[in-house]
Amino acid sequence: MSDLFERAKKVIPGGVNSPVRAYKSVGGDPVFVNRAAGAQVWDEDGKAYVDFVLSYGPQILGHGHPAINEALMAAIQRGTSYGAPTAAETEIATVICDMVPSIDKVRLVNSGTEATMSAVRLARSYTGRDRFIKFDGCYHGHGDGFLVKAGSGALTLGNPDSPGVPEGYAELTSIADYNDLGSVRALLTIRPEEYAAIIVEPIAGNIGCVLPAEGFLAGLRELCDEFGTLLIFDEVMTGFRVAAGGAQELYGIDPDITTLGKVIGGGLPVGAYGGKASIMDQVAPLGPMYQAGTLSGNPLAVAAGLAALSELRKPGVYQQLEAIGAQAASLIEEAAEAANCPITVNRVGSMFCPYFSSSPVLNLADAMAGDRDKHGRFFHILLKEGVMPAPSPFEAWFVSTAHDERAFETMKKAMKSAFSAAMER
Ligand SMILES: *Cc1c(COP(=O)(O)O)cnc(C)c1O
Repeated sequence: MSDLFERAKKVIPGGVNSPVRAYKSVGGDPVFVNRAAGAQVWDEDGKAYVDFVLSYGPQILGHGHPAINEALMAAIQRGTSYGAPTAAETEIATVICDMVPSIDKVRLVNSGTEATMSAVRLARSYTGRDRFIKFDGCYHGHGDGFLVKAGSGALTLGNPDSPGVPEGYAELTSIADYNDLGSVRALLTIRPEEYAAIIVEPIAGNIGCVLPAEGFLAGLRELCDEFGTLLIFDEVMTGFRVAAGGAQELYGIDPDITTLGKVIGGGLPVGAYGGKASIMDQVAPLGPMYQAGTLSGNPLAVAAGLAALSELRKPGVYQQLEAIGAQAASLIEEAAEAANCPITVNRVGSMFCPYFSSSPVLNLADAMAGDRDKHGRFFHILLKEGVMPAPSPFEAWFVSTAHDERAFETMKKAMKSAFSAAMER
């Protein structure tokens, strides 16, 4: 596989089409995947792994679910893209509005990045304001305005995280601390009529799995109402993952705009943004806010997404996912304890993250405080033993409905060796 990586690096920047796949934070060469089925992936040498990456979230039903495969097979017979409306788009939009009660109308796009970019444009269009607030460590895709982190403290204005993002544009993004309502109020108070939106991951899944503190999301809702600012829940990861209606259902919050992705496409590229009708009516061609897409609402993607959502609406699926997630987390905790390795596992249903830290992980700083050397050793032994988590201590782990007792047997054995290796000096 190192030969594959060498060849890839000649023609693709870093050899990968998304940076995390290059294993920079764990070292070594990435595993090239050849195929996948159920809870497993196989590499180019034929070695099997129990998969906890699940394409970074989308494969909540496991790989190659029969319902999705059948839907795709049927759809492909009828053509792959038309650039005209289809009945299936109305069908999936109806399902989305049904499952996520805060959404009256929804627009399909092709990725989570497109969804969040569009959602912020929509909030700006609706409010006539330019600034927005995001949280330190929350990831909203690679749109220019999101590639900004805190400069010096929560009250400083944004500095670009990546060259190529103009400072004048990044300046419109303000950074607050996750789980810290005071940092949000401080920003809003300084510029009370300038913020179009607060965008937040209701569960911060791009620094592992950081749960919202009691009252945090409700507090954001109240601050938004007080300051005439829209509340955007970025549920690209949590949507259809932590509950049928996403984190907003779990925590009982009513956001103005919601962004979706990952699970919504059943493994194909789909994103969506939706919300209250009065806001969504801003979107062209009904309203003045322009947003478009040649492949948006693609028939294959919609067929896969519809099949996935239909499966997820069956009774008992989220209880099953909760049980599987709980089993995975306790297995990890037990193995760590047996090896005397201090860890903290944060979990919501079928997403979780083990941190190599003995203190609670409530924000980015806590997540960063974990022991990265231990994680690196742990990761490489897991791979060797046939378990594949995401190659970074800051990525969430996912389980699917396909993670069965056989997968857990492999996991149990691998965890034992991996935590021992983590503790070696
Ligand atoms: C993955 C993710 C995105 C970006 O989605 P892409 O499909 O990778 O563009 C945005 N927001 C959140 C919360 C995500 O987890």
